[in-house]
Amino acid sequence: MVARHLKKPAPPTANGAAPAFDVTAIVEGVINDVRAEGDAAVRRYSEKFDKWSPESFKLSDKEIQDIIATVPAQVLEDIRTVQNNVRTFAEAQKASLGEFELEIQPGVFLGQKNVPIQNVGCYIPGGRYPLLASAHMTILTAKVAGVPNVIGCTPPIAGEIPSSTVAAMHFAGADAIYLLGGTQAIAAMALGTETIPKVDFIAGPGNAFVANAKAKLYGQIGIDLFAGPTEVLVVADEHASPFTCAVDLLSQAEHGPDTPAVLITTSEKVATETIAHCERILTSTDMSTAALAATSWRDYGEVIVVDSLDEAFALADEFASEHVQILTQNPREALDKMRNYGALFLGEKTCVSYGDKCIGTNHVLPTKKSARYTGGLCVQKYLKTVTYQEVKDPKASGELGRLCGRAARAERFEGHARSGDLRAQQFLGDKYKW
Ligand code: NAD
Repeated sequence: MVARHLKKPAPPTANGAAPAFDVTAIVEGVINDVRAEGDAAVRRYSEKFDKWSPESFKLSDKEIQDIIATVPAQVLEDIRTVQNNVRTFAEAQKASLGEFELEIQPGVFLGQKNVPIQNVGCYIPGGRYPLLASAHMTILTAKVAGVPNVIGCTPPIAGEIPSSTVAAMHFAGADAIYLLGGTQAIAAMALGTETIPKVDFIAGPGNAFVANAKAKLYGQIGIDLFAGPTEVLVVADEHASPFTCAVDLLSQAEHGPDTPAVLITTSEKVATETIAHCERILTSTDMSTAALAATSWRDYGEVIVVDSLDEAFALADEFASEHVQILTQNPREALDKMRNYGALFLGEKTCVSYGDKCIGTNHVLPTKKSARYTGGLCVQKYLKTVTYQEVKDPKASGELGRLCGRAARAERFEGHARSGDLRAQQFLGDKYKW
């Protein structure tokens, strides 16, 4: 494969974080302090990182209603419309999940069930923007899965309560809402404090601090996936509009200063014109987030020309990007040819922003190449697939007992073997001297 870079990213920085911070050390410090001191450490770090120290981080029912009353009617209506899409898709996911029982041999029954996790903590990011759509994606999906207790944490934005996010969390079905962000929120939910209950599982996206904290606490709690700073990759052929390529790349670059935005194209013309459009949009339009997007584009933007679409798909699979937008003549080809992506957006009539904000699929998606081994957040992530077995026929139990005795002794497990021997003795009359 001969791939030519027309635009390269700046030299990589560690872990996708702003280079000024040692994310790992900060996260470790916060987690250790919350483990040792509980609420006192949560409050200290909330003050330090978010200048936020209310009497209670938990919102009362009255506070929630008062906050919702400040949200414009159109925003509330749009939240309900989008949540209907997310709910409908999540319900279809749930309906597609298999529970079964089979009689593997006469009298021997094996089954599989999906049991919802009991206590889930959802993180709704909001340091920079009120990411209310993340409330639909995390809390609503957990509720469709049947999780009985779902709490949600979201940070204040520059000292202000993100009212539309609180509304979205409430309508999504949150059982409790905390105004708390970053590592201190993840640590509090994972470890439990005097006022914030410990959960079994944490879901939701976030910046490098949030993603790092979830990864560090994994094992003590379950996590959905590594859903860190956003990524976008566009695959385009010669039929693609360079302007659309540029707009869609920059739509994600505004997320933060560390958003990889990559174009892989078979057309040198599309590549050069996309670069030109990006520069023009970033320098000469009124896009209010242009400065942030420009930093991402400068440091993480890449434009690569390849010889064929097969090469483009193969290279895109190596990137294993969170979002992959296909702008080619036959976009569905990518469904057969690609394996590694969080979500695919097929053709110019759809776009990554639809997935992020309104179309109904889940926008909590794998980053940092974790799309090699996982898809995004879905109903299944909130369910434990558990098994059960029952042997109803005595003769079948005795025969399994003989098989179990031989299989266990091949591994030198005498205790296991005797459980099998006992059934063979009870149901087939075998004689053992123990
Ligand atoms: P955030 O809520 O993730 O993080 C804000 C918190 O970070 C603050 O509350 C603060 O406590 C903490 N913080 C900030 N600076 C800190 C510092 N120097 N030291 C310690 N803690 C610090 O909100 P955000 O920052 O706006 O980031 C949201 C992220 O979520 C973006 O990177 C976006 O790309 C990502 N995202 C990812 C997905 C996905 O599915 N992968 C989806 C949506 C959003």
